[in-house]
Amino acid sequence: MSGRIGVTILGSTGSIGVSTLDVLHRHSDRFRVVALTARQDVEGLYRQCLSHAPDYAVMADPDAAERLRERLRSAGRPVEVLAGAAGLEQAAVLPDAAYVMAAIVGAAGLLPTLAAARAGKRVLLANKEALVMAGPLFMALIRAHGAELLPIDSEHNAVFQCLPPDHAATDLSAAGVRRILLTGSGGPFRTLPLDQLPEVTPEQACAHPNWRMGRKISVDSATMMNKGLEVIEACWLFAALAEQIEVVIHPQSMIHSMVEYLDGSVLAQLGNPDMRTPIAHALAWPQRLDAGVSFLDFARLARLEFQAPDFARFPCLQLAFAALEAGGTTPAILNAANEMAVQAFLDRRIRFTDIAAVVEQTLERISGRAVDGLTTILDDDARARATADERIAARTLRV
Ligand code: NAD
Ligand code: MG
Repeated sequence: MSGRIGVTILGSTGSIGVSTLDVLHRHSDRFRVVALTARQDVEGLYRQCLSHAPDYAVMADPDAAERLRERLRSAGRPVEVLAGAAGLEQAAVLPDAAYVMAAIVGAAGLLPTLAAARAGKRVLLANKEALVMAGPLFMALIRAHGAELLPIDSEHNAVFQCLPPDHAATDLSAAGVRRILLTGSGGPFRTLPLDQLPEVTPEQACAHPNWRMGRKISVDSATMMNKGLEVIEACWLFAALAEQIEVVIHPQSMIHSMVEYLDGSVLAQLGNPDMRTPIAHALAWPQRLDAGVSFLDFARLARLEFQAPDFARFPCLQLAFAALEAGGTTPAILNAANEMAVQAFLDRRIRFTDIAAVVEQTLERISGRAVDGLTTILDDDARARATADERIAARTLRV
């Protein structure tokens, strides 16, 4: 079958990766899997290699790569196995893959995602942390290398669908846009009594009411840091100012976001909460594909509710707005401190409410700088991780 579009998935064993493979499999007449990558889940990537027959498989962990290579060899599968950070970057730029799904979680996805932009790919961006860390650099690479950037985050994909088709060419006000309304469910603790928040467990934080996702983004949704990262992401994707973005709590997650125009019109994108919808949209754009998603039944949609976000309950949201305003490397510092704090919470080393405290104290101790290149971003990411680690250690003693 010639003429099929080659697709590489960075982070194929994760929640977004698996949903992407599901959509690709439904349309194997149009798409072909060129490369799959994972950190260290040998069994998971091995099974995906058997089902999807990629040309390349990459394991970030070199020992895991060796084990995968051996398993594929014994099974007689002709998959070339690459390893480490270099292997991830190689997978992102393969000539046979015109599309790259960036679905690694966290800062680990930054370098391969930038490599895909530099190689002029259609970048399907789920890895929001990459854009939060390196917004100006990332957007400049997309423009300089004729790459395409299509948002997978459901809110940003919704906004993309509600904006005029040529929005990237003009600024938002010139396009008649008054505000972008980013919706968020409020996560599992939206109504929990505040005095119970310090005691919540990782299992409770990861039990999102509407979405099944990886553990890091699930905790981010529970603190609403996720929405904060998404505000920063939206500023870069749509050349928006912070004051043009408003966060609206919408517990049912049926409206995925909205755009309000000067004439009072509000365009919304709705659908069942299933990431295969934005994934299929970005794969097919400007056409449409069957995503395998169940359709909305309006007669059964009981009601749609909205409320303003509560900053006292969700201090991470406030911290993200402050980091956006500070600019430069401050969003990268926020992101790094948050990644460290979320991992420490998942490891039961700190409490849920310590996450915001660790991020805030890291931001107080490390001041951001103007972004003059990737090295500055990576340096401040490393400085923030070291400081966050100290703040975590100080708290761990008290838990
Ligand atoms: P996940 O934890 O389920 O999967 C992460 C993937 O990245 C896995 O394949 C894992 O092997 C790989 N990975 C992790 N650390 C790595 C490392 N150090 N080096 C190389 N690979 C590594 O995460 P997810 O929920 O699929 O989320 C992926 C990204 O998509 C995140 O940035 C998240 O914010 C974003 N996103 C996810 C959803 C969702 O519904 N899951 C929605 C919107 C945005
Ligand atoms: Mg989202």
